[in-house]
Parts: sequence; C-alpha cells; structure tokens
Amino acid sequence: MKKIAKILIANRGEIALRIIRACKELDIKSVVIFSEADANGLWVARADEAHPIVGNPIDAYLKYEKIIDIAKKTKCDAIHPGYGFLSESAEFAQACENNGLTFIGPKPHHIQLFGDKMASKVAMKDVGVPVVEGTSTPVVDLNDGKKIAQEIGYPVIIKAAFGGGGRGMRIVHFANDFEAMFESATNESIKYFGKGEVFIEKYVQNPRHIEIQIIADQYGNVLHLGERDCSIQRRHQKVIEITPSPLLNNDVREKLCQISVDAMKKLGYESVGTVEFLVDDKDEIYFIEMNTRVQVEHPVTEMVTGVDIIQRMIQIAAGDTLRYKQDEINFRGYAIEFRINSEDPQKSFMPTAGTVKKYLTPTGPGVRLESALYAGYELPTCYDSMIGKLIITALDWEGVVAKARRALDEFHIEGFKTNIPLHKAIVRNAAFKAGKFDTGYLDLNLDTLT
Ligand code: ADP
Repeated sequence: MKKIAKILIANRGEIALRIIRACKELDIKSVVIFSEADANGLWVARADEAHPIVGNPIDAYLKYEKIIDIAKKTKCDAIHPGYGFLSESAEFAQACENNGLTFIGPKPHHIQLFGDKMASKVAMKDVGVPVVEGTSTPVVDLNDGKKIAQEIGYPVIIKAAFGGGGRGMRIVHFANDFEAMFESATNESIKYFGKGEVFIEKYVQNPRHIEIQIIADQYGNVLHLGERDCSIQRRHQKVIEITPSPLLNNDVREKLCQISVDAMKKLGYESVGTVEFLVDDKDEIYFIEMNTRVQVEHPVTEMVTGVDIIQRMIQIAAGDTLRYKQDEINFRGYAIEFRINSEDPQKSFMPTAGTVKKYLTPTGPGVRLESALYAGYELPTCYDSMIGKLIITALDWEGVVAKARRALDEFHIEGFKTNIPLHKAIVRNAAFKAGKFDTGYLDLNLDTLT
C-alpha cells in the first residue's frame, strides 16, 4: 500500500470540512487552499494547514498548477478534489499523477470518458446497459437536429454534451419549438461550459431519477451501496435525495444495482462513482450519465450502510482492498438529505447573501448536519448557493418524514433567506408523504409549496 499521510483538499465549504473530518479520523494531516473570499471559512480553521491563493475567488480552486505546487511544497501525498471545481478534470488528475501525487478519485481516462455524456452512453451500451435513445455525436446543424428529433419522436431533450448541474438542457415538445430551444441550449452550454456541443435524446416522461453508488478498488472488486432517489429537483437540479427510493420495485432496484456493478467491472472502474438512471412509470430503465466523483448526496448512503464513503475513497486510493463482500453490506432504514440553499423560494429562488446573525441547528436522534456555517460568518456571494445539507435517518419511511419535519422546524438561520421553508412545506405535502413523486413533482407543485 502507498502511504497517504497528508492530503491537500482542493475544495471549500461543507465538503472540505467533511474531508478534513475523514482525514482526522484516519490520522491523516490535511492541507487546504483558500481564496481571499474564504479566509473566514470554518474549514480553513479546522485544517492542519491552510494556504491562501490570491486573485479571483473562483480561479483559486481551479488553478491547478498552483494547487499542485502547494501540495508539493507542503509535502502532501495526495489530493482530494471533492465535488465541482477540479473533481472531474482528467487533466488535473493526470497532472497530479505526473507530479507524484495520488489523485483521490478514478483514473484520468475514466474521468475523460464519463465527462462526455455521449461517449459514456456509447461505452455503457457496449457493456450491456440500457441507455436513453439519442445521438452519439454532437448535433451542430439545426436541420440535422430537426430531422433527428423527428426520427426519435417528440418530446425530445437537447442536452449539453459536457454539461452538469441541470444547465444547457431544453425539453422540446413540438417541432415548431425546436429551433429556439436548440439555440438556447447551445448558448447556455457555451456560457457555462465553454463548449457548445449539444446532443439530442428521447425525453422520458415522468421518470424517477435513481442512481447507484458504486465503490471499486484497484484490484477489480466492485460493490454497490444501493440507490438514491433524486427525483425531487428544481429545474433539473437535485433538492432532496432519499435512500432507499420509496415505492421502487425491488426487482428494478436489484437490476439497477447489478447492471451498474457489472458495467463498472467490465470497464475497469476504480474509486467511488455514481451511475445515474431514469426509471419510467412502466419500470423501464435508462442510463443517463455517470459521475466520477463523490456526490453531494453521499451521506444518505453512509447513513443506511454505515460505510464512510470518503474514508474508503482515501484508503482505496492508497491501494487498500474493498474489505467487504456485497452480502456483508447491510442496509438499514431510510435517510433523506435536504440541500440547504441561500436562496429565496418566494422570489424565484434568487440567491441571497449576508452575515449569519443567528444559527440554531437541529440535533437529536437521527439528525446529521453537514455545513461550514457558524454565527457571525459572512457568506461570500461568489460561490454556489448550497450552504449545507441536513440528513435525517430513521428505521421507516413514516419515521424519517416525521423526524425531518421536526428537525426542519428546529433549524433557524437568520441573516438571509434560505430554502428551509420550501423543505418544511414538502415534508408536509401529501404526495411526498405517500412517496409519490417523480422528477416533475417540484416544478409542478411549486406554487402550492412556496
Ligand atoms: P446534469 O449532468 O446537468 O445533472 P443529467 O443528465 O444528470 O444532467 O440530468 C439531470 C436531470 O434532467 C435528470 O435527473 C432528469 O430529471 C432530467 N433529464 C435528463 N435527461 C432526461 C431525459 N432523457 N428524459 C427526461 N428527463 C431527463
């Protein structure tokens, strides 16, 4: 096994704090880099060492030459990229390896492959995974696009090939709208991802978003840690994540887990990863994409399996084996994660900002909070609006919903608006309580919930 005694965390906020905690428990020293805007970050205080990167506050977490330089100077053995920022940069992963640093994540060629949604669908189809029907090369010409959409049959979805976070996506129900949607998907893709390539696929109506957590070592062993239901979304962005998925047919669950494990074995995947599917109302399954990093919603899986995903990710990168066999992974109870965002649900989710004036957090049985907030903290305005994650665990569905209601009622953040009132309304909503929701649930019910 390689020795990992010191890790540089190339990230910020709650995930940086989460990784620091994993390091402390593993007796590993942690080093963080931080932008000028983040000087007061809790993770900066909690890490063993912290190094500022001056200049643009976003660039600080993207300038990888600088980050690698600091990692080498501070004698780190490895770099954990967290999620977002450099986590899905094959170039960065390669640069780490070239500089003798272990990249805590998959191999660069897998990051490259799965970073391209079209290429990953082709690769997954080749190893027997059912994928959504669509183009496997970018569609550049409007008339070609119209023809393809006609062949696939409306409704279709136009998607940014290198997109993420629900951006660069347009649903087209009628041929007449194709041109405008094609243009706006391309423009949004250029704006957010610097690449305008889009592709077209069949729009699956009223599906559930079900994803499988995979964990794989360097010796060809692959396990799944069950599914997460991420159907509660606003504009294709996850808001609440749940495991297990209420009302999901057990055969479908097993099939999704099995095909994900088989595919990752065949493709020689290493580290943690998430295979994302859509499941329609006839229980047809469609692979949509693979995420080659730890996900925001990993804690729900940790709560029902007891597996510390971040620690295992670090140990696997050091060359450890999986240690468990599939039948030794036990699933217990339900877990729900609520993403806490600094945005105003009553003003079309406009981002909010300010200083945290009062911070009363929920505690008690079944409550876990992942956040870097504290009273007096001034929230920087230049980063993502997700300021924390509330994770609730209980033995059954009714219990977890009841605990969530209680915990959300205990949560008071004063200083700026958050989406906590939206979560409070959702856990009181009859359809949610009955476990009846698909990816259209939130956008459809938003008026009554806000
Ligand atoms: P991103 O990488 O931006 O998160 P995804 O491809 O993971 O994008 O899709 C995000 C969400 O968009 C899905 O969970 C689903 O709600 C919706 N979506 C994506 N592709 C389709 C599709 N072919 N049919 C229906 N909904 C889709």
